Amino acid sequence: MTHRYIFVVGGVMSGVGKGVTTASIGKILQSRGVHVTAIKIDPYVNVDAGTMNPVEHGEVFVTDDGDETDQDMGNYERFLDTDLTSINYMTTGRVYQTVIEKERNLEYKGRCVEVVPHIPLEVIRRIKHASAQAKADITMVEIGGTVGEYQNILFLEAARMMHLEDPENVLFVLVSYLPVPKHLGEMKTKPTQYATRTLNSAGIHPDFIVCRGEQYMDKPRREKLSVFCNVKPEAVITAPDVSSIYHIPALFEEQGLSTTILKKFRLKPRASDLRKWKAMASVQETAQTSVRVGVVGKYFSTGEYTLSDSYISVIESLKHAAWANKVKIELEWINSEDFEDGKKSGLKAGSGSARKLADLSSYDGVLVPGGFGTRGIDGVISTIRYCREKKIPYFGLCYGMQLATVEFARNVLGKTGAHTVEVDEATKDPIIHVNPVQLKNIRENRYGGTMRLGAYDCALKPGTIARKAYGKATISERHRHRYEFNNDYAVAIQKKGMVISGVNPQTGLVEIVELKGHPFFVGVQFHPEFHSRPLRPHPLFKAFITACLK
Ligand code: GLN
Repeated sequence: MTHRYIFVVGGVMSGVGKGVTTASIGKILQSRGVHVTAIKIDPYVNVDAGTMNPVEHGEVFVTDDGDETDQDMGNYERFLDTDLTSINYMTTGRVYQTVIEKERNLEYKGRCVEVVPHIPLEVIRRIKHASAQAKADITMVEIGGTVGEYQNILFLEAARMMHLEDPENVLFVLVSYLPVPKHLGEMKTKPTQYATRTLNSAGIHPDFIVCRGEQYMDKPRREKLSVFCNVKPEAVITAPDVSSIYHIPALFEEQGLSTTILKKFRLKPRASDLRKWKAMASVQETAQTSVRVGVVGKYFSTGEYTLSDSYISVIESLKHAAWANKVKIELEWINSEDFEDGKKSGLKAGSGSARKLADLSSYDGVLVPGGFGTRGIDGVISTIRYCREKKIPYFGLCYGMQLATVEFARNVLGKTGAHTVEVDEATKDPIIHVNPVQLKNIRENRYGGTMRLGAYDCALKPGTIARKAYGKATISERHRHRYEFNNDYAVAIQKKGMVISGVNPQTGLVEIVELKGHPFFVGVQFHPEFHSRPLRPHPLFKAFITACLK
């Protein structure tokens, strides 16, 4: 079969939505019956995204096979409704690691191993392998960073070599930014012209330019870019800011993008069908009712942009579930430190500005996402207690599940010093503990890729909220954690009304806990947010939103 490739590169500046553009182009091609997969290339030397701080880098997205990847992989999975694996993700570190391993194994047969061509060749090998594995007609390849950066030049080199080898089956999309300076009030094309030239100097000419900006691009500017950048006018695509990323495929389709791409690839597939997708994308604007969810966590300190990026899969899962319930979602970020009187950053102790826990009653439900470390933990535990006692729907993910058991041990079992050993190593009641393998990893500072990662099975107990939500007896969910529920406490918590509703059948590790006699109190050791798709919301998120609406 013929494998075709579309490389997506960035110009002018980062952060303009290359990932969503890549996913959206994939989506419109898929909607025409073409089989699409996607690859993300991160220029970092980090071997994976697992060791990067989410405040700086955004969410760490975990695949079924346990790779810790960039959050764009989540966009690809959500838009394409497909499961990607570690072969769909690469970093500079990962590529070099393989080349060096091969060299050590004498796989280069005594030749001198050089940055060029051996690094680009390894990049190409990976791209082709991912495409072959997926049996993809078209493989979207997003190259991180922007053209002109030293960091991604070897990836551009790989793309150039692939085009040289098979020019008919490789296309390039430049995603650029068109600023509208306030004092001019006019959209400027020059930075994009420079970006195109920079790309040209890497031996690559864009087939398409996607023009991001606050506004729609008008005809004169489209023509100008066409002439100066040597791209057909129909290949200059406007991509203004929109209220939801899920509108973007339709926006591209209105400009005939899939037809132009497919023509270039000499493919004649069926007509586009985005009806279901468009209906999903419009609920937020058309629904009469809304559901109000408070997300309580700690990575909320560096402005809205970062905060939503750190939990993007959680946010998207809540949207999918709300929209499937035909309601719009109102999300509010609550810094758990607000519940630790006087501890709020920058404020003196006792300043009295701490948010009152009672405010939580104004939410239809509360969610505590995953997290690490000690900051803001007391506030999370107070939140959980409040939700448990006041019967506010509560959904805890990973750390949110672990801390629910800590709260329960303290306030229901009366073990006031109970804790996770992550926070209190010497706790008398380590209800969340660490297994010997993980302890060794921590002691030896072996942090990269050593957590319990990826998909594991979980057997559900009949008659529970979880069992009802999933509608089946065994499920598989993705993990990313080091600590575990300590089964020494299993009998005690169950006696007092906490139900262990999900257990790993091979290891006996606790995967889900829930409460009897509460409208919805569920904690999961895994990350259900990585499996939610716009048109296939995750069953537990759906059940949570349903409970919130009652
Ligand atoms: N910090 C906890 C652990 O390592 C939870 C991790 C998470 O929430 N992803 O087990």
